[in-house]
Amino acid sequence: MKIILIALLLCLSAATHAADKPIVAGSKAALIVVDVQNCFVEGGTLPVKDGMAVVPVINKLAPAFENIVVTQDWHTPGHASFASSHAGKKPFETTAMPYGTQVLWPDHCVQGTPDAALVKALTLPTAQLIIRKGFHKDVDSYSAFEEADHKTSTGLAAYLKARGIRTVFVVGLATDFCVAWTAMDARKAGFETFVIEDAARAIDLNGSLAAAMGSMKKAGVKVIESSAVSTP
Ligand SMILES: [Zn+2]
Repeated sequence: MKIILIALLLCLSAATHAADKPIVAGSKAALIVVDVQNCFVEGGTLPVKDGMAVVPVINKLAPAFENIVVTQDWHTPGHASFASSHAGKKPFETTAMPYGTQVLWPDHCVQGTPDAALVKALTLPTAQLIIRKGFHKDVDSYSAFEEADHKTSTGLAAYLKARGIRTVFVVGLATDFCVAWTAMDARKAGFETFVIEDAARAIDLNGSLAAAMGSMKKAGVKVIESSAVSTP
């Protein structure tokens, strides 16, 4: 009896230890840095509250990753996701698009403008790929993997698989839209997926953050803090 009890205690302590142990990213993991662009931080056209706060956290995480992918929201002028493209509509209202309900945004992240540039303080010298999304005039793309029609691929899943990536860590802006959609599509594509909560910030429009958190949990996305990842 005593032996069983000791064995049980040892097992429990091992399990606790494993949970506390920092995650080592390794060569089969990639960091996906979503839309850390001037448009989505203070002073931009669609600022996410406290958006700049993600930058030091991401800069600290980056050296832990051999593989880094960056995304940029990259819209045509007059893009279908802009309220200004729909007569009588205001930003943050919705409209029906052939692919589903679309939230209408202020004009933002127009291709080639300083507003669409990556935030200068973001330090990712080892990033190998930039995925630009939302460049088809009539379709939005929150996800780094698929456009909002859920048909058109960006090619990211194939790229990551070709490089032997099994796990992705998603950070950036905004938690409840582009980060969440990217993380859920990563799960759909078969990747183990983490969202690093303190390296992301939300727009939180009509309860969108709670809804996104619920959907991510259901999809098997693990939400962690940056302190859980081992950094050099
Ligand atoms: Zn956009």
